[in-house]
Amino acid sequence: MLERRTLLRTAPLAATGLLLPGCATTLAAPPRGTPCPPRVNVAANRVIRTVAGLRPCRASGFVVRAEALGTKRLIHNYGHGGAGITLSWGTSRLATNLGLPGMTGPVAVIGAGAVGLATARLAQEAGFAVTLYAKALPPHTTSNIAGGQIVPTGHYDEDRVTPEWQRQYRAAMDYSWRRFQIMIGDDYGIHWVPTWQTGPIRTDGDDAWLLAYQPALAQFAQGQHPFGDGVMRRFDTMYVETGRYLSRMIADFQRAGGRIVVRDFASPTDLVALPETTIFNCTGLGSHHLFGDTELTPVRGQLAVLLPQPEIDYAYGVSEGYMFPRADGIVLGGTWERGEWDATPQASDIDGIVRSHARVAANWTCPA
Ligand SMILES: Cc1cc2nc3c(=O)[nH]c(=O)nc-3n(C[C@H](O)[C@H](O)[C@H](O)COP(=O)(O)OP(=O)(O)OC[C@H]3O[C@@H](n4cnc5c(N)ncnc54)[C@H](O)[C@@H]3O)c2cc1C
Repeated sequence: MLERRTLLRTAPLAATGLLLPGCATTLAAPPRGTPCPPRVNVAANRVIRTVAGLRPCRASGFVVRAEALGTKRLIHNYGHGGAGITLSWGTSRLATNLGLPGMTGPVAVIGAGAVGLATARLAQEAGFAVTLYAKALPPHTTSNIAGGQIVPTGHYDEDRVTPEWQRQYRAAMDYSWRRFQIMIGDDYGIHWVPTWQTGPIRTDGDDAWLLAYQPALAQFAQGQHPFGDGVMRRFDTMYVETGRYLSRMIADFQRAGGRIVVRDFASPTDLVALPETTIFNCTGLGSHHLFGDTELTPVRGQLAVLLPQPEIDYAYGVSEGYMFPRADGIVLGGTWERGEWDATPQASDIDGIVRSHARVAANWTCPA
C-alpha cells in the first residue's frame, strides 16, 4: 500500500537509483561532525488534514495525440498516473506543438488541473486566446491533492510502452525540468529539497537517462545516515506546493486574458458544439468516461498532513512511506490503491500511514 512506488512503472530512478555510466556522481560520506538532521515530529494529534485523490493511471502511459473531431482538431493530453505534476509542462509542450501549428482562432482547453493549466498557458504564450472549460477548478482537482515531488513515479508499465512513447516521455521530462526551474520560489511554491531514498545507486537499467534529473546524487552507508539499517542515497529535486502553485497558475492565466467556464462535458458531441476549433483534452481521469478510455484506471492515494515543521529541510522515501516538507504542512504518504474510485480518506489507512512514519522517527539514528 505504501507509495510513491510502482504498480505501473515506479519511480524509475527514485526507486532504483540508476547511475548514468560515465557520469561524475559523488559517492560521498558525510563530513565528520555532520549534525544530526532534525526528526519529524510524528503524532496523531499533529495531523491537520487528510486527503485522498485518484491518480489517472494507464499501463501504456500518458496520451498525447491529435485527431479530428468533426471539423475541429482535438489534442489529447491525459493519463499521467502518479507523475502528472512532474510531466505537466512537458506533455503540454508536446500537445501544443502538435495542435497549434497552422491553426488560427481561439483555443479551448478542457480541464483545470496541472496539465490543463500548463497547456492553457503555453497556448497563450503562443499568442492564442484561450477559454478553459472544467467541471471542477482548483482547489477541487486531483492536482491539488498531489504531494508535488518532481520525480516521474508510477505512470506506466514498462512492457506496455512503445519506443515512440519513450521518446515523448524523455522530451516531456526535459521540458518540465527546465520549466519548473524558472518558477522556483515562494510565488509558485516551488523549492529544491535534498531527498533521501532507500537503496544504493545502481548503474544498470533502461532508465539511466533519468539520472540527469538527480543532481547532487550521493550514496551513504549504514551509520552515515539517520535512517537506521541499510544503504541510502540522496539527491536534490524540486517540490511543488500544489495549492499555491495552481492558484498562481490560474492568476497567470486570467492576467493573460484567459476566460474560465465551469462546465461538465458528458460526451465528445458536447465538444463539437464549442465555438473553438482547436480543443485540448486535459481531463485526467475524466477521459475514462468522456472518451471511453477504459485503460485509464484510478489508483487512489491517501495522505496525512502534519503541522508545518520549518526546520525539516529534507524529504525521504523509505519502505514505510514518503515525507515531503512543505510550507503548508509535512506531507506523509501514502497509499497506492488500484481500481478504487472513492476519493475519501479512510481513517484506518490514515492511522497506518501515521504509525509507519512514527516508526521512522523512532528508529532515527544520528550519523557517527
Ligand atoms: C496522493 C497523490 C499524490 C501524488 N503525488 C504526486 C507527486 O508527488 N508528483 C507528481 O508528479 N504527481 C503526483 N500525483 C499525481 C498527480 O496528482 C496527477 O497525475 C495529476 O494531478 C493529473 O493532473 P491532470 O491535470 O491530468 O488531472 P486533474 O488534476 O484531475 O484535472 C482534471 C481536470 O479535468 C476536469 N474534468 C474531468 N472530466 C471532465 C468533464 N467530463 N468535463 C469537464 N471537465 C472535466 C476536472 O474537473 C479537472 O479540472 C499524486 C496523486 C495523488 C492522488
